[in-house]
Amino acid sequence: MSQPFSVHALASGSSGNATLVRAGETAFLIDAGVGLRRLVSGLKAQGLELGDLSGVVVTHEHADHIQSAHALSKRYGVPLVASERTLAAIYVRRTQSPHQVLPVGDRWRVGELIVETFPVPHDAADPVGVNVLHVPSGQKVSHITDAGHVTETIRRAVRGASLLVLEANHDVYRLRAGDYPGHLKARILGERGHLSNEAAVGLLCEHALAQGPHTVWLAHLSKENNTPKLALGYAKATVAVETNCPVVFDVARRDRPSAIWTPGASALQLRLF
Ligand SMILES: [Zn+2]
Ligand SMILES: [Zn+2]
Repeated sequence: MSQPFSVHALASGSSGNATLVRAGETAFLIDAGVGLRRLVSGLKAQGLELGDLSGVVVTHEHADHIQSAHALSKRYGVPLVASERTLAAIYVRRTQSPHQVLPVGDRWRVGELIVETFPVPHDAADPVGVNVLHVPSGQKVSHITDAGHVTETIRRAVRGASLLVLEANHDVYRLRAGDYPGHLKARILGERGHLSNEAAVGLLCEHALAQGPHTVWLAHLSKENNTPKLALGYAKATVAVETNCPVVFDVARRDRPSAIWTPGASALQLRLF
C-alpha cells in the first residue's frame, strides 16, 4: 500500500542509531547502528521486512551507526549508500557488499524522495548530515547527529526543514563535572566531537525564527551526560522565550522506537497548544 511521507526514530544514541524514512512504496534507513534483531522488530511494527529497504544511508563509519549495515547489504542485498571515503572506511575490515556511492553534496533519487548529504564536523572519514525532500509535498526533513559544532553549511542545510532531527548530546556542565577521562571529555567537547544542548538550542532558535512552526527531535543523547528531561526542558524553555515560536519537541530515545513524524503531525499537535 502506498504510504504517506513519514519518519520513525528506531534508536538514537551512542549505543546505536537508526531512523526509518518512508514514502509511497519506498523505505530506507539513515544508519543501521543497532543489531539486526532490533531492526527486524522496529520494521515489523511498520509492516516492513529487512528486504523491503531500498538502502541504508550511512552518515559515518562509527560502530553506533553501522552495526548491522554490512550484514544488511551482504545478506539482504540492501545497498549501503555513502560517500567513497565512508565506504572505504567501512570496508577496511569487511568484504565488499552491495553499495551505491553518494558523493557528499550529490542527490539520491529514490521513489518520491530525494536524499542529499552535506558535511558535518566529526572525527570520522567523511561524516555527513542528511536532508530528505518529499517531492510530491515539498516537505523537507533534516537529520544531523555527531557534529562537533554548528557550521554555516549546517545552517544553510536545515533551511525550510519541517522536521529537524538534531543531536543534543550532552550538557556541558554535567560532562565537565562527570567521571569521563580527560581525553574523552576533550574529544566530545572538541570541534569534531558532539553537539551540546547549548549548541543545539542555538541552532534551534535560529531555525524557529526563520522557519515558523515545525517539529524538532532531540537526538543522540548521552546516557551519562544528559537526560531526556534535561535536554527537552532546556530546549523547550529557551526556544519559547527566545523566539515565541510554537515548536513541537520530542526526544529520539536510545533504547526503543519512539517518535514518528508525518507532515500533518506537527500541524495537528500545534493546534492543541
Ligand atoms: Zn554516534
Ligand atoms: Zn560518531
